[in-house]
Amino acid sequence: MGRNIVTGEESAEICFICSGYIPNNETPGAYPGALSRWDNTTEICSLCGSAEAMAPLVSEQARDLMTEGLQTQQRELWIEGIRLWLPEQYEMNKQMSESLKTLKALEAKEGVSSE
Ligand SMILES: [Zn+2]
Repeated sequence: MGRNIVTGEESAEICFICSGYIPNNETPGAYPGALSRWDNTTEICSLCGSAEAMAPLVSEQARDLMTEGLQTQQRELWIEGIRLWLPEQYEMNKQMSESLKTLKALEAKEGVSSE
């Protein structure tokens, strides 16, 4: 014990896309975030990392905004594009972790009953 995250909230970096902590709001500064494809050097939170990768694939509108933002070096457009998809990504991640939990619970249950 006693090895809590001392980096704490004030030194944890902020994601420029969602203004949340990196890598996430639950454990600020616990580990590095994802590298943004905006410049390949700026860290963003884990969620936005996934959203950044998914948005251009699933949303034409997001892709257009992100492409234009990159081409014209307008970070606001890049952010706007990702934010279009961000709530969906959040739901996806949530469902994913819930499914994993359910799966683990099922596996645990089967393990017990098969004994
Ligand atoms: Zn973020």
